[in-house]
Amino acid sequence: MAVDATQPYDDQNIFAKILRGEIPCKKVREDEWSLAFHDINPQAPLHILVIPKGQYVSWDDFSAKASEAEIAGFVRAVGAVARDAGLVAPGYRLLANAGTDSHQEVPHLHVHLFAGRPLGPMLAI
Ligand code: 5GP
Repeated sequence: MAVDATQPYDDQNIFAKILRGEIPCKKVREDEWSLAFHDINPQAPLHILVIPKGQYVSWDDFSAKASEAEIAGFVRAVGAVARDAGLVAPGYRLLANAGTDSHQEVPHLHVHLFAGRPLGPMLAI
C-alpha cells in the first residue's frame, strides 16, 4: 500500500528493522549517517537503496526536519555509493518516491540508485 507521506514515523517499517539488524540486507556501504543495500527486487542490473539512519518518513520529512549534518552526510553518501561502484562515467539514475501519487511503499526515506544499462526515458507512462 502506498505511504501517506504526512503520517508519523512508524519504527516497525521494514527499513527500520534493517537498520536495527532485525532483518538482513546485502549491505553496500554504511557510515554514521546512512546505510546502502541492494534492493530485494531489483529493477535494473544494479539497484541500490540508500537510507538515512535518522527516522524520516519521506523526502519531505527529511528536508524539513533533518539537521544540516544529517542532510550533508546523506547526500554525500549517495554520491559515494555511485562513485565507489564506478558509475560516474557510465551514469546512473536516482529516484525518491514521496507519498501516495509516487507509490512510495516503505515509510522510511530511501533513494533508489539504478544503473548497469541504458535506463531509457525517465518515466514509463
Ligand atoms: P518505494 O516504492 O517505497 O520507493 O520502494 C521500496 C523498495 O524497497 C522496493 O524497490 C522494494 O523492492 C524494496 N524492498 C521492500 N522490502 C525490502 C526488504 O525487505 N529488503 C530490501 N533489500 N528491499 C526491500
